[in-house]
Amino acid sequence: MIWNTKYETMPRKELEELQLERLKYQVARVYEKVPFYRQAFMERGITPSSIRSLADLARLPFTVKQDFRDNYPFGLLAVPMEQVVRLHASSGTTGKPVIAPYTAGDINMWAEVMARTLSCAGMTKNDIMQNAYGYGLFTGGLGFHYGGERLGATVIPTAAGNTKRQIMLMEDLGTTVITCTPSYSLTIAETALEMGVDLKTSKLRLGVLGAEPCSEQMRQEIENKLPIQAIDIYGLTEMVGPGVSVECPHKLGMHIFEDNFLAEIIDPLTGEQLPYGEKGELVLTTLTKEALPIIRFRTKDITSLNPEPCKCGRTLVRMSKITGRTDDMLIIRGVNVFPSQIESVLLEVEGVEPHYIIVVDRKRHMDTLEIQVEVSDEVFSDEARKMEELEKRLMEEMESTLGISPVIKLIEPKSIPRTVGKAKRVYDRREL
Ligand code: ADP
Ligand code: ZN
Repeated sequence: MIWNTKYETMPRKELEELQLERLKYQVARVYEKVPFYRQAFMERGITPSSIRSLADLARLPFTVKQDFRDNYPFGLLAVPMEQVVRLHASSGTTGKPVIAPYTAGDINMWAEVMARTLSCAGMTKNDIMQNAYGYGLFTGGLGFHYGGERLGATVIPTAAGNTKRQIMLMEDLGTTVITCTPSYSLTIAETALEMGVDLKTSKLRLGVLGAEPCSEQMRQEIENKLPIQAIDIYGLTEMVGPGVSVECPHKLGMHIFEDNFLAEIIDPLTGEQLPYGEKGELVLTTLTKEALPIIRFRTKDITSLNPEPCKCGRTLVRMSKITGRTDDMLIIRGVNVFPSQIESVLLEVEGVEPHYIIVVDRKRHMDTLEIQVEVSDEVFSDEARKMEELEKRLMEEMESTLGISPVIKLIEPKSIPRTVGKAKRVYDRREL
């Protein structure tokens, strides 16, 4: 169902007019209220009146993660602190976190885009949504929570973790929709098996799974192990949290709520805009945020945009699944390798489980790439020859896809620690 027909099915020309009007307003606001932007605009000789068409967007400066750090915690705020009703923060694994302030209006907009998100994913007010995203500073928990309530569904705020209790509640309360990271959905499937619970006979039917990369192959694994349609959802703290884009049941890309977020694709090396269809770095501009309006944020996420109307009736542009980040590309012996390529190759091969880690190291001035992947119980308890065959097969497939040969380590089922939030799969020990 389409939650907001007006904005989700608007003819593109009309949508672009709306975007231009909102962009002009945002540019004028940040010019007036945020010294960081005023200075960046002045350096380029830009004033609010420079923006006459959407093409003028390309003249505006980018905002990068470092700008959030340099202005930590409140330097980019565009409203007086007394209008801020909530603060969230990114996990900030490298240095200071990004602080995200919201006005009451922002919280309202967020609930609206999340209601649209869940509706687009196929959820209705009759659903019982078990929200297993982390609550707290992380935007996932409260973002989904408010969206579920706005939609009118029944929300169970279990938060991430305590997996056995999740499964008990899922059965007892008749959960129909699970919301969590793709990796945590696999942990839930695995734990249910261990408990002897068959979720295939439960009421579960839909998963709105995001916050981390998930290849098509990984989606397939999840849909095989759980009785759900696995829908991909994308968002980031710098914009609003979840609620930027989501797939519809056709799974032909994630619809971006473009009346709130203006999307571009750029060449990450030159910063030049790329046409529709070409892969590059996603750049987003907020069009309706009050507390933290952001101009041309470089997400580092790699995707492409498709403006063709979708079978679902939405006219909103669709972004393809994220195939990587500009900063997660590994350069191994001079060859560029994306972890997502490794995931796709691994999961195409039978006998391999969707649990793996990638370890990069440097030994005697030589880069090494080791892929540790769990195998199924059957493979593990079978004769050694089977393991050797599988190892050889994976080596060959990796070599032909990546162009370099990794060391493959087949490991015992359940030996890789499970996470409840975003999975950490790459360990680059070279910088240590
Ligand atoms: P942190 O992880 O630092 O707390 P965020 O939650 O804001 O911060 O993380 C946002 C990032 O998570 C995005 O820039 C993107 O790299 C990743 N991400 C979010 N959703 C998806 C998705 N559906 N597919 C792939 N990556 C995603
Ligand atoms: Zn669609």
